[in-house]
Parts: sequence; structure tokens; C-alpha cells
Amino acid sequence: MPVQNKMWTLKLKTIFLQSWKTHIPKSSTTAATNDIKDILRTFKKYGVRQEGLAFSRKITRSMPIWYHRHADKKIRKLNHSEASICLKKNHKIFSVGEASDFVIHLGNLNHQPIANCECLPCVTTRVDTQCHNPNRCMNRAKDLLNTLPSKWDPRQQLPEDYEREQGAVGDYDQWSYFDPTVTTKGELSDSLRTFTHGELCNDLPDTRPYDGLNNGGHRWVLF
Ligand SMILES: [Zn+2]
Ligand SMILES: [Zn+2]
Ligand SMILES: [Zn+2]
Repeated sequence: MPVQNKMWTLKLKTIFLQSWKTHIPKSSTTAATNDIKDILRTFKKYGVRQEGLAFSRKITRSMPIWYHRHADKKIRKLNHSEASICLKKNHKIFSVGEASDFVIHLGNLNHQPIANCECLPCVTTRVDTQCHNPNRCMNRAKDLLNTLPSKWDPRQQLPEDYEREQGAVGDYDQWSYFDPTVTTKGELSDSLRTFTHGELCNDLPDTRPYDGLNNGGHRWVLF
């Protein structure tokens, strides 16, 4: 479903990517709300939702972190603390990608888990954002990311990471082969599927080729 229009993208964001209950005032009869009602009705009818075996890191990073659609419910409890307010207001962290770039600093060898840590990322963060406790905010961002299922966590190894090598397998002229790649690529709107039904699965499939030992989920039979 290609969606170029900006308004569309905004509506899709509200409806699919965040876990807000879509609220349409009953009394309102403006063109805009009728429009959303129509969209919702149509999407419900055709079972539109984000679905795929795996998504590219670009798509997982583009998701909004706050009220992330696929996060564990406990993410809602993390929303209103001082650290979360600081993450939004001072650090301007709104997407999964921004959060995961921020938590990388926790792995800095000079970082200490204290409020007045003097490591370079903490010092820079303090100067750039007026945050007085970068360590606290980094840990909060990590808590937020930890509520994401593996399919939606860009810090995990994703099928995309090893699919490129698998692509080379197909370079046999006379053999037709089964394309083992499962990753949905492109923009966020490319993650939407119609005619979906049943339980949504957020586990990552292991599509690495079977290596003859215990690694890799599948034996790709090439004949
Ligand atoms: Zn530090
Ligand atoms: Zn902060
Ligand atoms: Zn599953």
C-alpha cells in the first residue's frame, strides 16, 4: 500500500503505530473526522495492520517509541516519570532509532552509572540538553527499548543482517530457487498489510541457513 500523502502518513501513525485508543468524538461531523472514520471502517473491513515476518532496521527505527504499538504493556507505566519527560522535552527522543542511538552511550568504557558521570557522551549530553542526569535518562531509554518484542527491536540481530549473504545463493543460472528473504523494507507505510487475521506474531523468525550443527533455523534444500 503506497502512501505518499503526508496527511495519510500522520493518520496511519496515530492509528497503527501507537497504542492510543483511536477516539473520534461522536458529535463531530467535520470532513476530517468523517475521513478518519471512513479510513478506520475500511481498514477494519480489510484487516489492515502492520504485519510481516520481519522488518528492516530502518522500519523498526522509524517507529515512535512512546506508546509503541507492539511494546509490552508495561511501557505505559514508563511514560510519565521525570526521566521520560526529560527524554521528550530535553533530549527530543521520539523514535525507536533516537532511543537506541542514545543508549549506546551506556556502553562507553568511561561511563559510570552515576548522575555526575564525566564521560564524554554524558558531558556533551549535559551541555546540549540541559539534562542534569544523562545516566538516568539513558537507562530509562533502555527500559523503554526493553519493552519491545524482538521483531521490533533494532538492537537485535534481524534477518536483514544475514539475508544479503543468502541472496548470493541464488546466482545459479539454470536453477530456480526459493527466495529465503523475509524482511519487509522501505518506509513505515510498507509495513502495513491488508487481509490480515488472527493473532499477531512478534517473534523473529530464524531464517539463517542450517549450518550442519545447531545454528540456523532452516535447511534450505537447493535442488
Ligand atoms: Zn557517562
Ligand atoms: Zn535527561
Ligand atoms: Zn511466533
